[in-house]
Amino acid sequence: MAIAENIARVRERIESAALRAGRRADDVTLMAVSKTFPAEGIREAYATGIRAFGENRVQEFAGKADAVADLVAAEFHLIGHLQTNKAGKAAELFAAIDSVDSAKLTAKLNAAAAELGKKITVLIEVNIGGEAAKSGLGEESPELEAILQGATAWTHLEIRGLMTVPPFSDDPELARPYFRQLRELRDRIATRRLPGVAMEVLSMGMSHDFEVAIAEGATCVRVGTAIFGVREKPQT
Ligand SMILES: *Cc1c(COP(=O)(O)O)cnc(C)c1O
Repeated sequence: MAIAENIARVRERIESAALRAGRRADDVTLMAVSKTFPAEGIREAYATGIRAFGENRVQEFAGKADAVADLVAAEFHLIGHLQTNKAGKAAELFAAIDSVDSAKLTAKLNAAAAELGKKITVLIEVNIGGEAAKSGLGEESPELEAILQGATAWTHLEIRGLMTVPPFSDDPELARPYFRQLRELRDRIATRRLPGVAMEVLSMGMSHDFEVAIAEGATCVRVGTAIFGVREKPQT
């Protein structure tokens, strides 16, 4: 029952953070990041009312998908980097790809979704800290523009917002400027009212910094460790 207790605690923290920011806790989706944890953990989280789950590897989730197929209201999001050659498999397995980071991948996903006759929700991942080792598009990158401006061509994708993982720091306050930067980018894109582009989702904040992310406008926080415990293998 540790998972249920952990979720209750995380929910309380979300509520206080929202309250302090003058926001409604209902406007913040708690995504449980279940990577490296078995299907039973997903089931336990689902039983407490969690509906959004984050996985970071296509292969890993492929091995768990059958064991959670009966959780009909669960929405599985891919939050890890997706190689274009796995776009087809990812389109089959996931309801949402939150880590779209190239125009080529966008086109592949759209084609795969069309073939499956399904609509996939996507977020564009932005490398807000500009770290060389991280995936995600630069704020000013032509790729980002290409994805946004071509949105009406992505007939089987729904672009819903932005996702980021800021540079890691033990001090969550150091992430604040990055969260703010992502929100400002979202606002600038939203103002342009591009056809086929919705900008209502701001996915940012993890176990150690989600309160700061909520203060800066996160509508989805991706929490793994604080729900499931420490992962055995270090993963990003
Ligand atoms: C693993 C992961 C998380 C969750 O991280 P925790 O620190 O365990 O909460 C969130 N987002 C992404 C993209 C991840 O890979």
